[in-house]
Amino acid sequence: MVAAGSVAEDPLRWVAMPDATRLAAGYLIAWRAWTVWEHAGALSLRSFAFTLDPANTWPARQPYVARCRFRRPHVAPVRSCSCGIYGYARLSSLLGDQHCLPHRLMGDTPTSTASGLDFRGHRYRGVVVGRVALWGHVIEHEGGYRAQYAYPQLVYATCLSGEQRAALASAYGIEVYHVPLSALRKLSMTAPPARYVPS
Ligand SMILES: [Zn+2]
Repeated sequence: MVAAGSVAEDPLRWVAMPDATRLAAGYLIAWRAWTVWEHAGALSLRSFAFTLDPANTWPARQPYVARCRFRRPHVAPVRSCSCGIYGYARLSSLLGDQHCLPHRLMGDTPTSTASGLDFRGHRYRGVVVGRVALWGHVIEHEGGYRAQYAYPQLVYATCLSGEQRAALASAYGIEVYHVPLSALRKLSMTAPPARYVPS
């Protein structure tokens, strides 16, 4: 466990992604939220959109590749569509986003996150936020980005147990920190905005 305050100091200090996600062109570090699911003893991250569908699980140790959810015949994302993997420029914007709703769904106890809901053997374990690496084709918007490829870089969990955090960290090869919700809100005021990291 690391104090939340120390994590925000150096955004590059925590870059530790599997080799498969290192590309020559570098990548962007942005912010986003995920839902956490447990299935067959393993923990995984999913996107918020269509989050009940296991097909939206972020693969461990390999890039998450954007697909057009409207099944349009283009490589996601394109400017004329809303597809792509989303990232926020600022953690504070993410925590205040009415569409993403992490500020309502996050809590410091499993009960407050409705953890334990079971959908066909997949158990919902709550919401986490963190830094995400985005690369490939990236479209910039006001407040954030849509990207072709993504990989979680670091996760802040408010309600996962130590065992769950360790399982998530081990599965994805990333750092997962326990941060109480109040500390996360404080951190969002000083957390560095999205930035480009050249290779
Ligand atoms: Zn599309």
